[in-house]
Parts: sequence; C-alpha cells; structure tokens
Amino acid sequence: MYKNTLTLENGITALLLHENITKNEIPDHTLSDVWIVNHENPWMVKQFLQNIIKHPDPHVYLKPVFLQKNFKKAYREKKNYNLKHLCDGYIDHLKLEDRIASVEFIIHFIKNLQNTEEMYSSTVLQKILWYYYSRNKKIEFRESSDSLNGYTYPRIEAYYSGRKESYLAVKEMLTQAYKSGFLTRNYADTSHLCHKCSSGFLNYREECPKCAGHNLQARSLIHHFRCAYVASEDLFQKDERMICPKCNTELKNLGVDYDKPSKIFCCRKQDCRNEFQQPLIGVRCINCKTEQAPSTLKVEKIYQYEITSQAIDDIIKPHTIG
Ligand SMILES: [Zn+2]
Ligand SMILES: [Zn+2]
Ligand SMILES: [Zn+2]
Repeated sequence: MYKNTLTLENGITALLLHENITKNEIPDHTLSDVWIVNHENPWMVKQFLQNIIKHPDPHVYLKPVFLQKNFKKAYREKKNYNLKHLCDGYIDHLKLEDRIASVEFIIHFIKNLQNTEEMYSSTVLQKILWYYYSRNKKIEFRESSDSLNGYTYPRIEAYYSGRKESYLAVKEMLTQAYKSGFLTRNYADTSHLCHKCSSGFLNYREECPKCAGHNLQARSLIHHFRCAYVASEDLFQKDERMICPKCNTELKNLGVDYDKPSKIFCCRKQDCRNEFQQPLIGVRCINCKTEQAPSTLKVEKIYQYEITSQAIDDIIKPHTIG
C-alpha cells in the first residue's frame, strides 16, 4: 500500500495530504477513497482545496476531503478562508464516525459516474449540482468581510477570481439556475449595497441638511416643566449646576422637574453652523468612496438554494449508471 494511505472504518481507504499540499500537487485519485488534510498552513490548504474544486476530473473534485480537528486552531486566524466550506468539513483525527453513510454514498456516486469526455468539460453549474447532490446538501452562503457584498458561497466562488468578478458570476449563475428550474431558493437576508460597486462595506452617518457636512454635534434638548421653556442643554449649564435661563430655577431631577424630549444637532462646519433636529442620513462606500443617499442603495436578497428534481433528472441522472 502507498505510504500515506490508511484504512479507516468499514474498509474505507484514506490518503493523508501533507506532502501533496506542501508541493501543491493533486494526488492520484485512484489511491484512496477519501483525502485527509493534515497541514498547518491555512493559505496552502486554501490553494490546494481550490485546485481540487477547479480540477476538470470529477473523480477529483467530487472526492470526499476532510480537515482534521486538531488543525482548527491553526486555521482560526484565517476564518475568512472558509476552509471548512471548501471541503467536507472536520473529522476527529481519523474517525469518520457519523460521516460513514455520507462517504459511502459519495464513493458510490463517483463510481457510477459515466466516464465520458463530456464529463471533463462540464459547466460550473453542472459541477456544482453534482457536488451538492452527492453531499445531499443545500447551497448555503457564509458571511465574510473578504467578499464584496459581505456574503459568500465559498465553494462556488472558488471557480472565479477577483472579488467583483466572482460576486457577479456567482449571482448570475444561481439566478439563472433558479429561473431554469434547477434550484429552488429560500429567503435568508436582505443586504444593502453601494449602487456603484455593489460593496456591502458601507459607512452610514448623520448629515447636515443644509451643507451635507457630517461633523455634527448632538445635544439634548431640555424641557423645563415649571415654565415650559425648551432649549439645548448647554444653555442650562452653569458651572456644575443646571439653571433654567428663563425662570432661573435650578433643575435637579430628570423626569421630575425636567425631561429631554429630543436631540438637537449642530453642524460644526465653520461657515454653516446650522442647527436642526432631523439630520439626513448619508452613506459612504468604503470600497469605491462614493457618497450616496440610502434610497439609492442597491437592495439585494440573499437566498439558500436547493437542488430540484428537474436538476436530478436533467443534469445528474443522465451521467450516472444505474
Ligand atoms: Zn452644515
Ligand atoms: Zn424654567
Ligand atoms: Zn462603492
């Protein structure tokens, strides 16, 4: 037997990938049933897993690949890599335990794939459908500050490079697959994106309605019950005490002799100094620096997807035997 292969539960054979990852070399898929990542470098693991995903041979990209739990700590710093979602997730050392049935299903599925030329030139959608079908899984997004809009479908994005390109390509692919009846979708979230670049990395801030400046000072308004006088907090401040400028009485207890009905904003821009109660909200895109009003943001719904029976009949079944 090949030096890095082992036999696990139910006679399932496994190959430890340390050497392959170091050399960034995809192993011969005939050597074992499953592959196990035992490498501590998250960046190298990511490159390797992406190469598996993008490999033209279905025996490679459909192969069950696991990470070992004891490396979890080493990957923690790179949470945005979503390593767990670029493969079949973690196992405890070499124990498949409750994953056995799923692994056996995948092995069986790969064995029954028709070995035709066409299989090697399939579209990303076909690959994705075969993969998720063999895993009996939903296509789920993850939150990620590395992605353009804050959401990512890690396994699908692995096919593309560039933040904007992969965002657009994945969106287009999932939407088309949904419209063609290959996927159903379930609403998960609504996101607001820059109208110019689709980034979800946005800074919302209160703005002066007169000059659009955002260096504002907010002060509480004080309402003195006894004389009904209303003015901004600073007009009541006399040394350490609060004195009403209208009736000259000291204010002592909030809720008893005065309250703070609202706030007043003061624009700090030299030539403006506007005072107002209703600021506007402005949005600055951190990615492309565009200033915009909230009403002009792109509103986009985020979904989870599931494979339909039409996809199974049209895309999966025709390529499997039995
Ligand atoms: Zn102003
Ligand atoms: Zn008063
Ligand atoms: Zn932008």
